[in-house]
Amino acid sequence: MANLPPYLFAEIDRKKALKEAEGVDVISLGIGDPDMPTPQRIIDAMATAITDPANHQYPAYAGSRPYRAACAEWMDRRFGVKLDPDTEVLGLIGSKEGIAHLFPAFIDVDDYTLVPGVGYPVYSTGGVLIGGKTHYMPMNEENDWLADFESTPAEVLARAKMMFISYPNNPAAVAAPVEYFDRAVAFAKEHDLLLVHDNAYSEIGFDGYMPPSIMERPGARDVAIEFFSCSKAYNMTGWRIAFACGNADAIKTLGIVKSNVDSGQFTAIQQAAMEAMLGPQDDVAEMREIYQRRRDMVLETLPSIGLSARRSAGTIYVWARIPEGYTSAEYAGLVLDKAGVIMPAGSAYGPDGEGYVRISLATPDDRLAEALQRMADAL
Ligand SMILES: *Cc1c(COP(=O)(O)O)cnc(C)c1O
Repeated sequence: MANLPPYLFAEIDRKKALKEAEGVDVISLGIGDPDMPTPQRIIDAMATAITDPANHQYPAYAGSRPYRAACAEWMDRRFGVKLDPDTEVLGLIGSKEGIAHLFPAFIDVDDYTLVPGVGYPVYSTGGVLIGGKTHYMPMNEENDWLADFESTPAEVLARAKMMFISYPNNPAAVAAPVEYFDRAVAFAKEHDLLLVHDNAYSEIGFDGYMPPSIMERPGARDVAIEFFSCSKAYNMTGWRIAFACGNADAIKTLGIVKSNVDSGQFTAIQQAAMEAMLGPQDDVAEMREIYQRRRDMVLETLPSIGLSARRSAGTIYVWARIPEGYTSAEYAGLVLDKAGVIMPAGSAYGPDGEGYVRISLATPDDRLAEALQRMADAL
């Protein structure tokens, strides 16, 4: 436990509370949690599902058969990927839960996990919790933020079991070309690794870009599993519903861990998620437009603040380079002090995040505009 860093967002909440106690109207551009409500069609489905007494009993461990079939149907409609709902799909209580449980499933003490140089904190802390080791794959401007697995030392590879990648990427907001997925699949095959693709932002691509599934790529099913979540796609972060799919052995093993520690997600929530995935997708298109408009607003203002960024290809973030002369933690502290705006230091996302901050687009337009104005004035 002593090896765990404080959970990033708990630390941000603490700083925000301190500033608010001084009477400052703090605007947080910190958190990756959609500000918009869950679409009404999904709430209506939940309202119906909750009245059915059959749903009040223990759910099925792996997710109900209809839920798994709906996940497979969604994968087919969205990506043209055909999956067996009985062996290649597993319901999850949010993808964070599934990702964390990969560690007891696949990692022994001192085994390595290959983790992107910046990424979702659980890819590394999941290993810390059970005595596993982390090797960070370099990720930077020069390699287009595509985690460089090929430079992994042989002695690490000899003890490596699992490798995480995630595109569109949180926090770097880049997409990966499909050739990168193909190289990752080949590498995982060669070194006998479980390849894990976290596709949390599959529905949030900009400028017409629709992110792919790694399962579209040849051979992916031999070595990879992929995580999808209703959280960002359907503004359902509080509902805790997601699924894993792909390699049947890996799905089975993860399912064994889960059946020993949890009892699945409330069946009514699974039914609401079925509506989310299989109902009309217009709300998803609208949400994408809102984030894209906010991205453009941020990109236009950044130069006047002294920050620069690539055009985000997707996700709900802008990953911005900070001015010379500060660490990213110092810069984030300065922004909070001078402008009352919270943005996480890039270094909190892994060793390659130094020199960057992450700006969340999950902030109402007027608050986002005000935060940018305050920063332009103060910095
Ligand atoms: C938000 C996020 C998740 C967590 O999703 P849940 O399904 O809500 O647990 C996983 N991975 C990444 C990269 C995320 O940004």
